[in-house]
Amino acid sequence: MSRFPSDQKPSTRAAQALGWVDPATGALVPPLHAAVQYERTTEGEPTAGRVYTRDQNPTYEPAEALLASLEGGRAALLFSSGMAAATTVFETLDVGDHVVAPEQMYWMLRRWLQDQAARERIALDLVPNGDMAALRAALRPGATKMVWAETPANPGGAITDLAAAASAAHEAGARLVVDNTLPTPVLCRPLEHGADLVMHSATKQLNGHSDVLAGALVTGREDDLWKRCRRERAFRGAVLGPFEGWLLLRGMRTLCLRVAVSARNAQRIAEACDGHPGVATLLYPGLPAHPGHEVAARQMDGGFGAVVSLRMKGGAEAALRMVRELRLFHNATSLGGVESLAEPRGLEEGDGSPVPDDLVRLSVGIEDAGDLIADVRRALDAVVPQGRDRTANS
Ligand SMILES: *Cc1c(COP(=O)(O)O)cnc(C)c1O
Repeated sequence: MSRFPSDQKPSTRAAQALGWVDPATGALVPPLHAAVQYERTTEGEPTAGRVYTRDQNPTYEPAEALLASLEGGRAALLFSSGMAAATTVFETLDVGDHVVAPEQMYWMLRRWLQDQAARERIALDLVPNGDMAALRAALRPGATKMVWAETPANPGGAITDLAAAASAAHEAGARLVVDNTLPTPVLCRPLEHGADLVMHSATKQLNGHSDVLAGALVTGREDDLWKRCRRERAFRGAVLGPFEGWLLLRGMRTLCLRVAVSARNAQRIAEACDGHPGVATLLYPGLPAHPGHEVAARQMDGGFGAVVSLRMKGGAEAALRMVRELRLFHNATSLGGVESLAEPRGLEEGDGSPVPDDLVRLSVGIEDAGDLIADVRRALDAVVPQGRDRTANS
């Protein structure tokens, strides 16, 4: 199906969906297959290798092939959501297997892991993001089966050194799985740094238009773990509807453009707002003062992502006011769309979350950078006017 040699640049592979052409009609856009079942021959064999849509639908295949190619992986699987993809990985574990995950990670997945641990289905240790000594100390050789990483982490932008995490995990006999939702394969390819599996919320920048809920896993090897992931997807029926699979491929054709523009916009917003008297800390790994900047610069390529978080000097009240003052940035959850969004993320995550209640998360879209900066600066000025004495507001 693919006419593309593997040395084609990612933007070429994405724009042309690996050069996909429908063998039956010559169409350059793949068809949407709504069929639930596929006919068997008189001998009872599947005519084209497919039986039932719960885990076999040709609509997924071009999107899976493109994502695997962009991540530098062997294969990909689409899921009904990012959470479905992530929880499927943990469903491959045996009862009591040990998992090490970061304190700061996608909140719903952390809550699910804690729930699994409370029910004694897994043993769980949460370690500070990017703290290699803490990660090594938490590993239990032989018992630890999975190390989870998310870098930059949502929402605070904490960075984990993937090569170091991979070698620590492997020495203990565990696998490293990386939630690569925020950077996307355009900015970071964890398999190149030694990760075993990559997970995505394709709901975010992979699709990019805030109209699809989807997830994905990508593997570097078609090994036993991968076969179990594939089997779990079929058992759980955690698949997309074909329309979502079709929309996702359409979105991914412009991935490289969207990621580049939103990362450039995010960098400019971070630089323009760092040091504003209303901001206590600006969390963006693209700023040289960010504690993870050096590692991020080494393992990311072409930008630092579309998420900028601001810790407000005036606490939770200032975070709420900030989000309400923004005009271009809509007050809504989620991230990775072409339109910019803002959320008082700490307040949303609530009790039990390590995210402070003064944190505002910006998801930066592809609008004009000047318009976005003007909106953020105007909102910050409304919360704490420029020129006021910093110390008076702390
Ligand atoms: C949104 C998100 C998820 C969950 O994905 P859904 O598609 O909403 O289920 C997982 N990880 C990260 C980093 C996310 O931002």
